[in-house]
Amino acid sequence: MRYSQYLLPTLKESPADAEIISHQLMTRTGMIRKVAAGIYSYMPFGLRSIRKVEQIVRDEMNRAGAIECLMPMANPAELWKESGRWEKYGKELLRFKDRKETEFCMGPTHEEVVTDIVRNTVNSYRQLPLNLYQIQTKFRDEIRPRFGLMRGREFIMKDAYSFDLEETDADTSYEKMYQAYRRIFERCGLKFSAVEADSGAIGGAFSHEFMVLAESGEDAIVSCGGCEYAANVEKAEVRVSAEAAAAPAQALAKVETPNQKSIEEVANFLKVPADKLVKTLIVQTDSDELVAVLLRGDRELNEIKLLNFLGCDWVVMAEEAEVVKATGAPTGFAGPVGLKLRIIADNEVRQMSDFVIGANEKDVHFTGANLERDFKVETFADLRQAVAGDPCPRCDGRLESWRGVEVGHVFKLGTKYSEAMGATVLDDQGHSRELIMGCYGIGIGRTVAASIEQNHDDNGIIWPMPIAPFQVLVVMLNPNDDAVRGAAESLYAELLELGVEVLLDDRDERPGAKFKDADLIGIPLRVTVGARGLKQEQVELKARAGDEIEMLALTEAAVRLRARVDAAL
Ligand code: ATP
Ligand code: MG
Repeated sequence: MRYSQYLLPTLKESPADAEIISHQLMTRTGMIRKVAAGIYSYMPFGLRSIRKVEQIVRDEMNRAGAIECLMPMANPAELWKESGRWEKYGKELLRFKDRKETEFCMGPTHEEVVTDIVRNTVNSYRQLPLNLYQIQTKFRDEIRPRFGLMRGREFIMKDAYSFDLEETDADTSYEKMYQAYRRIFERCGLKFSAVEADSGAIGGAFSHEFMVLAESGEDAIVSCGGCEYAANVEKAEVRVSAEAAAAPAQALAKVETPNQKSIEEVANFLKVPADKLVKTLIVQTDSDELVAVLLRGDRELNEIKLLNFLGCDWVVMAEEAEVVKATGAPTGFAGPVGLKLRIIADNEVRQMSDFVIGANEKDVHFTGANLERDFKVETFADLRQAVAGDPCPRCDGRLESWRGVEVGHVFKLGTKYSEAMGATVLDDQGHSRELIMGCYGIGIGRTVAASIEQNHDDNGIIWPMPIAPFQVLVVMLNPNDDAVRGAAESLYAELLELGVEVLLDDRDERPGAKFKDADLIGIPLRVTVGARGLKQEQVELKARAGDEIEMLALTEAAVRLRARVDAAL
């Protein structure tokens, strides 16, 4: 490809809405163009990298025995009603009607469509195991599309769905995908970690997210320094301490706390540390029940743990009026003493004694509160967010925390969809049985973005060879010098002949501008053809990732470059 004829609209400045480095660099290198919020055009340079990631994914999926298909973007509502998700999915599901008033949605994921295919085409255990995958454009009407391809509304995903009859076979399918994912992300040049993720009502450790380490990541992860344990904080367990609470030493006493509502305010006002307070959150469940949730003052509620514990689809913090009705006081003064609500507490509260709590009275708290003596808790459970420094739930180590970008997700679904949609096959005894499913997603654009987050410097992108839009950049220093033009043109032709993906910078630009663009667009190998080198029959090679400059004999340059590319693939 000739730069002069290519569409590579580089920009000096980052667009104002690009908060993270990958979004800035993808825009500045002209890889993507925003069409609407969370909706982008893939420009030629960007598409090349997207296609490479797709090809790596395709290779590894095929190698793992999955079979490619392609399902439609438009999904009939009928199928989504069968699975129950038409009602449940919420506003991320973009719904529309066709001219006959038939309802559809844009597929955000394809469990319904694939289950429909399988129930209609697979009827015997002999056809199993089956894993169908596609690389396809998804639509999710995300509430906050941002960060370029990281969180788009329209985005390309690889999604795969496995079908098995026996649990052990389903676990094997899961394991195969897990291993394929490791290879995919290694080949994409990513530093990643597979972490345990929440699997909702299904339970067990049968969900892993592949997280790429990045400051800008939207997910918080904890991992153990001493063992393999790593989990999304949404899921990370907190070990129950064996320590018992000290015996009560204080009497329950009311104290005035005028206008002191938050934990911080009350702690400052009473001059006690936040970990000597217990906060009482009044939540409203999806079945309209109010529940009091107790946590140590300095801890955060883990909403996913609470949902799993209560078996709810959602909870919200109760409205002020509800809180007043239930506790007799405005928000900020709720407490468990005398409260006529179901009371649940985080495990840690069990170890506390003589703590401060709300008194269900405006501007009043209790000090010296103690469990059992002053109030009862219905159930203790793991409800808080894990934090750095917590003991590891698996070994004697301590947890560390970091941020990550979720690039892939493997999930054992069980029979949720096959049951709802009647996807059964006959086993070897002739009995009809529901299929056990797994689903496995990779965000293609997000993977490219995550790779840029990890592979860049102040001057631009540093592409890992396997997903680089081009492998070699030939910089023709002075296109008006016939010797330079001739040598650069023949090197370019030789490289093409050898199957190297090469971009020839034949623009009539100053060398400084060309080198700046070269650094920005980050092609792994840069070869400079200039008058000075040519006097010695040489060209200059520099890897984008290093500082070293190597001189190559013009006659050998193409072959040497081919070898360098191969070594990095
Ligand atoms: P997130 O928690 O980031 O919203 P998710 O859990 O909803 O993601 P999945 O349903 O597991 O995502 O989708 C599989 C993969 O698709 C994710 O691992 C991610 O790489 C990608 N993905 C999901 N949502 C988006 C999006 N809005 N933009 C780009 N990629 C996405
Ligand atoms: Mg996910």
